[in-house]
Amino acid sequence: MHQFNFETTALHAQQIEEVTYLRLAKSIGTPFYAYSCAQLKHDLQKLMSTMPEELNFLYSLKANPNMSLVNVIHQQGVGCEVCSLTELETALCAGASARDIIFVGPGKSDSELARCVDLGIKAVVVESLGELQRLETMAAQTGKSQAFAFRINPNFTSEKARLVMSGKPRQFGIDEDVVINALNHLDRYPHLTLAGIHVYLGTRILLAEAVIDNTRNILSLAEHIEAKLSHPLSFVDIGGGLGIPYYPKEQFLDLDATAQGLAPLITQFQANHPDTRLIMELGRYIVARAGIFVTTVRDIKSSKGKTFAICDGGSNCHGAAAGIAIRKNFPIKRLGAASDAEHSEDYMITGPLCTPTDLIGNAVTLPQLQVGDLIGVFHSGAYGPTASPVNFLSFGQPAEVLIDGDTAIQIRQPEHLKHVLAQQLPMPVQLVSATHSAVK
Ligand SMILES: *Cc1c(COP(=O)(O)O)cnc(C)c1O
Repeated sequence: MHQFNFETTALHAQQIEEVTYLRLAKSIGTPFYAYSCAQLKHDLQKLMSTMPEELNFLYSLKANPNMSLVNVIHQQGVGCEVCSLTELETALCAGASARDIIFVGPGKSDSELARCVDLGIKAVVVESLGELQRLETMAAQTGKSQAFAFRINPNFTSEKARLVMSGKPRQFGIDEDVVINALNHLDRYPHLTLAGIHVYLGTRILLAEAVIDNTRNILSLAEHIEAKLSHPLSFVDIGGGLGIPYYPKEQFLDLDATAQGLAPLITQFQANHPDTRLIMELGRYIVARAGIFVTTVRDIKSSKGKTFAICDGGSNCHGAAAGIAIRKNFPIKRLGAASDAEHSEDYMITGPLCTPTDLIGNAVTLPQLQVGDLIGVFHSGAYGPTASPVNFLSFGQPAEVLIDGDTAIQIRQPEHLKHVLAQQLPMPVQLVSATHSAVK
C-alpha cells in the first residue's frame, strides 16, 4: 500500500491527542468514531487564516451532524448550513443563532419552512419556484417577512468536481434562466426578500484552479443578477465542496494557491458590491481529518491465497471506506505500539456483514495482525455513520467520542439491541380520512 502522510493529520497510530486508542477501546468498546478537538480547530483556523478575510464560512452539517462537533465549529466563528429540521434544531442546540443559519435542500416540508419563518433564519435557500410560493404562503400566514436565496443551477458546470451537482439536469436548484426570469416577478412574494444567491457545484474538489474558476463564474453570475435588482444582495454563497485526499495519488488541495487565486476576484467583487458578503459552505474539508474510525479484529483467516481480518465494524459504520462506486483504500493503520522486526502482510479488512461488499480495506499492508488488534481508518470525520447503512444486520449506530487533550467525552451512545428492538414495538395506526390530498 502507498504510504500515507499521516503527519499532516497530526494523528498517529498510538493515541489521539493524549488518549491512547487502547484505553478508549477498553473504556467504551468498539467500533467507534473518535474526533480530535485540536485537529478540528487547527484545520478550521488554517482555513480561515489562509483564505481571503472577506470570505465567511458556513459548516454543512450533512458532513457530520454531531451536536458537540457543531458546537466546537460554531465557536470558531462559523455559521451553519442545514438541510433538514433535525439539522436545524441541532444547529440551534449547538449554540448557533437563527441569523447564522441557512436552510438548503430539495423537497423541504411545510413544517420545515414554517420553522424557518418562525425563527427568521438568515435565509431559506429555495430549490424551486413552487417552494418559493409555499414559503410566501407560510410567511403570509404568520404575517412575517422572511429572507430567501435562490439556489441556482447555472449554465456553466464544474469539470473538476468528483460529484457534479449542477450545470446538468438536476433536482437541485433552479435553472439559471428561470431565476433570471423570476427576478422580474419578485412582487409576487410580498412577504419574502431576496437576500442572496447560492451555487453549489460539486464535492471533493482537490484542484485550486477548479475552486478559482467556479468562483469566477459564480461571481460573474452574481454581478449579472445584482444588475437587475433594485437592492444589493446581502450575500453570495459560492458553495464549497473542497476535498481532502483519501486515496493513493490524491494530493491535498493547495490552500495557499486557492487563496491567492481567489483574492483578486474577491477584492474586485467587494469593491463593486461592498454590501454583499461572500460565503463558502464546507462540510468535508472542516471535519474529515479530525475523525478516525476504530474497529477491532475479531477473526483472521485465509481463503484461496488472501488473508482476511474480520472486524467488529465494517461498511455498516463506514460506508465511504467501502466505496459506493470505486473501491480504493482510505489510509488504514494498525493502532497501538509497533514491536520490532515485525513482518507485514496484505490484509483484506472486512466487517461483520453477510455481503462481499463489506470490505473497508483491500490488500492493505499492515504489520502482522492478531485477533483483538485495533484497526484505524483515518480521514474519517466526514460522511461516516450518517452516510452508512448502520441498520444493516440491525447493528445500529456506532459510538462517537470527542477527545480534547487528556479528556474523552462520549458524544453519541451506540445503538444497542434494546434501542433497535424498541423501535419495532407494534402500534395500531389511527387511520385518518384520505380526502385531504396533500401530504404535509
Ligand atoms: C453536501 C453539500 C455541501 C457540503 O459538501 P462538502 O463536499 O462536504 O463540503 C455543501 N452544500 C450543499 C448544498 C451540499 O449539498
